[in-house]
Amino acid sequence: MTKKFRICFENYESSPGHEEIVHSKEIIMNGLIERPVDVFNFGLSHGDQIKLLHDCLDAFLKEQIALIDSEPQYCPKCKDIKLRRNGKRVSDYHDVFTDHKLEICRMRCPDCKYESGSTIQGSVILKVISKELWYCFLSDKTAEFTTMTKKFRICFESYESNPGHEEIVHSKEIIMNGLIEKPVDVFNFGLSHGDQIKLVHDCLDAFLKEQIALIYSEPQYCPKCTDIKLSRNGKRVSDYHDVFTDHKLEICRMRCPDCKFGHGSKTTFFAEHCSYKSVHWI
Ligand SMILES: [Zn+2]
Ligand SMILES: [Zn+2]
Repeated sequence: MTKKFRICFENYESSPGHEEIVHSKEIIMNGLIERPVDVFNFGLSHGDQIKLLHDCLDAFLKEQIALIDSEPQYCPKCKDIKLRRNGKRVSDYHDVFTDHKLEICRMRCPDCKYESGSTIQGSVILKVISKELWYCFLSDKTAEFTTMTKKFRICFESYESNPGHEEIVHSKEIIMNGLIEKPVDVFNFGLSHGDQIKLVHDCLDAFLKEQIALIYSEPQYCPKCTDIKLSRNGKRVSDYHDVFTDHKLEICRMRCPDCKFGHGSKTTFFAEHCSYKSVHWI
């Protein structure tokens, strides 16, 4: 069996007293969990971290935009006339670390030909969330009361799989969980800078823990007394600094019961398991 992880974006609805409905589950990232041998296979690369953030944010933005398109919009000039879809437009959206292409519906009044969101340039939010559109959101006509709350969650799953065998999910951790709200201004469109960093931090943290667990899942032998297994001798918390995030990693100290040879202190852990010294390790 091969140890793997996947990070998923789930779009679901829930309400107290109702069964949860999962609308979609998208695999954002999927890969092997390998025993770390050097700094190059420990953790996730800078490129993977940016891709992770991009794809999570992309999935979140698409859900927020779908909320705009899911409710009827009325012409601000001809009060009772519903706007109709009039094709789509791809718009650029630039965030702190990532760039996105967002597909926005063009809406047009069949009577007076009024168009909303049709001239999107630069910041998508200024056009999509135009003043007129916002007033439409506030009008009673669009207020369809629903008891279910639209939510998203980003999960980290560790699992084992092999061709011909059933997949075994070992753990599922919710990395981030929140509401999907209709965007009304730039402050609730997308994820905040802080949330983005937290997302990368918590995904990477979960991944690093799985990699470290792989080191201790196999017996380690004393390099001096050849056949003697090292035994655990407490834990040590070690700092790990990555590009965007800092982590506290719990490392087992291992000791030979015979000769008392010990490794697993912060310097020897590195020497034993990572053949390349780097400023990443303290
Ligand atoms: Zn009109
Ligand atoms: Zn020994």
